[in-house]
Amino acid sequence: MSAPSAHDVCVIGGGVTGAGIARDLSLRGLSVLLLEKGDWGGGTTGSSSWMIHGGPRYLEFDWDTTRLSCEDAGHIVTIARHMVYRVVFIIPVLPHDKNNIERMETAMEVYDRFQPLKKAHPHVRLTPEEARQVEPGLASDIIGAVTMEEWGVDPHRLVFANVQDAIANGARALNHTRVVDLLRDGGKVIGVRYRGSDGSMSEARAKVVVNATGPWAPEIGRMAGTEVQLRPAKGIHIVYPHRISNFSISCESIDGRDLLMVSHAGFTLLGTTDDDFYGDLDSVDVFQDEVDYLLQAFERVFPAIRDYRPVRTTTGVRPTLFKWRRYEDQLSRKYEVIDHIKEGADGLVTIAGGKLSMYRLMAEETSDAVCTKLGHQAPCVTATRPLPGNEAELEPAAELARRNGVSALAAMRLQARHGTNADAVLKDVRAGRMVCRCEPITEAELAHAARHEQVRSLADAFRRVGLAAGPCAGAACVMRAAEVIGNELGWSASIRFDAVREFVRGAWLGRVPVLGHSGWAQEELAQGALRGLLN
Ligand SMILES: Cc1cc2nc3c(=O)[nH]c(=O)nc-3n(C[C@H](O)[C@H](O)[C@H](O)COP(=O)(O)OP(=O)(O)OC[C@H]3O[C@@H](n4cnc5c(N)ncnc54)[C@H](O)[C@@H]3O)c2cc1C
Repeated sequence: MSAPSAHDVCVIGGGVTGAGIARDLSLRGLSVLLLEKGDWGGGTTGSSSWMIHGGPRYLEFDWDTTRLSCEDAGHIVTIARHMVYRVVFIIPVLPHDKNNIERMETAMEVYDRFQPLKKAHPHVRLTPEEARQVEPGLASDIIGAVTMEEWGVDPHRLVFANVQDAIANGARALNHTRVVDLLRDGGKVIGVRYRGSDGSMSEARAKVVVNATGPWAPEIGRMAGTEVQLRPAKGIHIVYPHRISNFSISCESIDGRDLLMVSHAGFTLLGTTDDDFYGDLDSVDVFQDEVDYLLQAFERVFPAIRDYRPVRTTTGVRPTLFKWRRYEDQLSRKYEVIDHIKEGADGLVTIAGGKLSMYRLMAEETSDAVCTKLGHQAPCVTATRPLPGNEAELEPAAELARRNGVSALAAMRLQARHGTNADAVLKDVRAGRMVCRCEPITEAELAHAARHEQVRSLADAFRRVGLAAGPCAGAACVMRAAEVIGNELGWSASIRFDAVREFVRGAWLGRVPVLGHSGWAQEELAQGALRGLLN
């Protein structure tokens, strides 16, 4: 083992919270080490509903969370302008829903007061005819609808932009690096022991260690002999590789919960469940009955939903703060910064709970606590300082497309991921050729991701640039992608094949719960074709 490195702070966990903390602390001039056992945003963050929202639902029992989320969403929308897009909901009301149209409109009138905080528009009430005119797929028996506006974001890119800025400000950030133990001096936490991507063990000393591991926080807490109590709750989504509607739609489930069909740039997320979770956080399965629960609910408001073919499912575990008795759905999304000095583990700070929509605020408060411990005085600047790619106005996508010989859609997608750096990404390697026919990803972007964005596998490329996220689910592009990435990382032919096999196996696990009768037949065909190619 090499001699330990030394840092002011070691942040464990490269989800949105840990990445936000690493950025904040490095901008305040501290030396930071950020460690993530998988890939950036690959935990709960990546399996969220991809929304920066206030959550009108919390108004019923947790007013503060709605206000804080809306305030922080406003900051996130400002600093990540190139990444966010408006998501407009239609909330239809059916005859036997728990809220009638008047109640629903009253709730929206209250929520309207918060909307300016996140630069969103107030609601509109629609007659049944108006609602069905803008979305003809709605059920014929709706008795009215209201609209609501939120923001969408690719959480993987949001996390990575925070990591990038942390690195630009002096942080060291390693993915595929697992913390296996904490270094102690008596009870005091003085650093971490970690296993790198090549399997080697290393140690790092730090004056403060931050536990930002979301649902895994109790595991890190135990390494210091402390207890972090969470009430983890599992959620799943069904993913469609296209937009089902230009609007996002909400509906009520059989047990009265609010479910959402969220229309993102080129795909749709339908979810989500919310169930207490007691299993292995590193192996969370999606079950057919969870899929059925979601479809049953949506069939009431959108009768043709079963005619659309999903491409996969996602699942994640919410790091909700512990509370006895309440239903999962009614648990607060509050967060807590815990200094473990009270339990004799000075040097360890945990951030638990919260939401993606207020990650910046959570990072600010955690960083404040760390700075107080270190006696370091420097103000937080993350509420106004743009994330990388958002430092200036974007040029028109058509200009970027024309100059680089790519389609306008490819240029738009590039700008959403890289902002003003899109041109440099295309110039960095070789522009032009598409890796996949159904998702406009260029070879240049993929090579750039391997060269500069810590992509080490095809699954990393899925997160960083959306590889295989389209209708082909990788069938048409993973071999070529393995070649492009392999050229950058020096992969032999056998490593490329292994990379493809590993990706296909992982993708298959997420697809099984949504394979219908014809889906299985097509899956066998696709698997057979791939086996032929690999052999
Ligand atoms: C289904 C679902 C939908 C949601 N939708 C939304 C939404 O639309 N909007 C919203 O605001 N919120 C949403 N949330 C909540 C939100 O996703 C989470 O609150 C947030 O993403 C948590 O981020 P995190 O960084 O704290 O945790 P994570 O993203 O889980 O990050 C923790 C990281 O720590 C790493 N780690 C763990 N152990 C170790 C170790 N030993 N060494 C190194 N690294 C380690 C993990 O690999 C992981 O990447 C949703 C949650 C779920 C489950």
